Amino acid sequence: MRTFAPKIINRQTVNRRIAMKVRVRFAPSPTGPLHIGGVRTALYNYLFARQHGGDMVFRIEDTDSNRFVPGAEEYIREAFAWLGIGFDEGVGFGGEYGPYRQSERREIYKVYVRQLLESGRAYYAFDTPAELEAKRAERPNFQYDATTRMEMRNSLTLPKDEVDAIVSGGGQYVVRFLIEPGQEVHVHDLIRGEVVINSSILDDKVLYKSADELPTYHLANIVDDHLMQITHVIRGEEWLPSAPLHVLLYEAFGWQDTMPQFAHLPLLLKPEGNGKLSKRDGDRLGFPVFPLEWHDPKTGDVSSGYREKDYLPEAVINFLALLGWNPGNDQELMTMDEMTRLFDLSRCSKAGARFDYKKLIWFNHEYILRRDDADIARAFQPMLRAQGVEAPLERITPMVALMKGRVNFVHELWEQAAYFFVAPTEYDEKSLRKWWREDAWTYVSELCDFIGESPEFEGAVLEPKVMEWIASKEWPVGKVMNAFRVTLVGAAVGPHIFALTDYLGKDETLRRARRALEVLPKL
Ligand code: GLU
Repeated sequence: MRTFAPKIINRQTVNRRIAMKVRVRFAPSPTGPLHIGGVRTALYNYLFARQHGGDMVFRIEDTDSNRFVPGAEEYIREAFAWLGIGFDEGVGFGGEYGPYRQSERREIYKVYVRQLLESGRAYYAFDTPAELEAKRAERPNFQYDATTRMEMRNSLTLPKDEVDAIVSGGGQYVVRFLIEPGQEVHVHDLIRGEVVINSSILDDKVLYKSADELPTYHLANIVDDHLMQITHVIRGEEWLPSAPLHVLLYEAFGWQDTMPQFAHLPLLLKPEGNGKLSKRDGDRLGFPVFPLEWHDPKTGDVSSGYREKDYLPEAVINFLALLGWNPGNDQELMTMDEMTRLFDLSRCSKAGARFDYKKLIWFNHEYILRRDDADIARAFQPMLRAQGVEAPLERITPMVALMKGRVNFVHELWEQAAYFFVAPTEYDEKSLRKWWREDAWTYVSELCDFIGESPEFEGAVLEPKVMEWIASKEWPVGKVMNAFRVTLVGAAVGPHIFALTDYLGKDETLRRARRALEVLPKL
């Protein structure tokens, strides 16, 4: 037992890796759909790597076979393809440090498990689940550590020949990390500064399980970060409690000089700001917490995704970028290139970031405005088809140009602009009450004749002529034009009326107006 000043682990110099090429990784476990917080983590890694001309590695951490969910890996890759987050290397991308799926790296980990066993930094443990259970029942705050390990069945307490017999005889065991108590463990975090904990609070974590011949997350993660020459570990705050253990593992392997820099990102909070964002918040308030729709292979449950809910990927990206980071001014709209230039880990906050999904709707609106009209038209065409309307892109694009400023989602164009494609068969009651009175029928009827006889139809020419003609009749412009609008649209809404007549063309304009004259009353 230590009686004097504790040994200090990890007094690294912050700039020691300055000359190395930046390499980061995104390392999901395929246990289900990627949560939106994971997308934010991947994005920050991506921005950081791009900014430094570094590499971004995609690693699959699938050492826990009990939690493996089929389809999750494919889902994650499809999500990043949709979001425009690219990887340089990893599962599906190739590279020189593979394989990148941990279940395919069994033999590699065994070497390192052996190394820890041989150096005395780890030991075999044979306690059965029932024995551990009994111990926990006996001692409420039981933890497998320096205070208890000598009471357990492991290679520290059993005679060597017995241990050898179990191991070589194919008996089940785990390998546990031997944590020396009473040491100060320092975690340097690029966002949080220095975090210091005492090793006495840590337990002897299981690093390897003979049952599936695989290491646990902690060992696989450290070995791979080391072998793949990862320079920065940027991940969610939920991993911060594991960081001291990871520091101790680097030290046990003698890798402390090439240990990656840590950056633990702030938590995503509920829209109201109280507590961690969960799927239930999304269900309750009607927003997805997954990038793509997810069909649970076991339960058959379907969870909504941003893609299927008609969000633009650039809006999702821009929104997420600002959940925990800001560029130092109040600029909000940024392209991926701008974000790459401006991103700065030291401007990431420690405090949780409120998931203000309404802000995302605003971003979506802004990015619809910034997208090409033809692009939006392409996205809208299948939605139009689903409404039974077949229209070529040349007919959809000019509508988009006139109407996209009014919607937050592409699908809302149907609600806002169906009349561009389908002549009204019904007329909005409120609009009729307001505009279809007194001389409305006469106004529209005479306007139809006037337009019908006019050799020019193009709005730019027609508009001043119509205005002049209305003035000569001493009619109220608003009443004439709104009555006319109701006949074309079916309600007193829509774009500039002569932009609409240009879109509809002379025949369709007159057909709509004259049909209304047949069905609407002459008062
Ligand atoms: N496999 C872990 C996860 O699912 C990776 C954590 C880390 O980045 O170290 O998020």
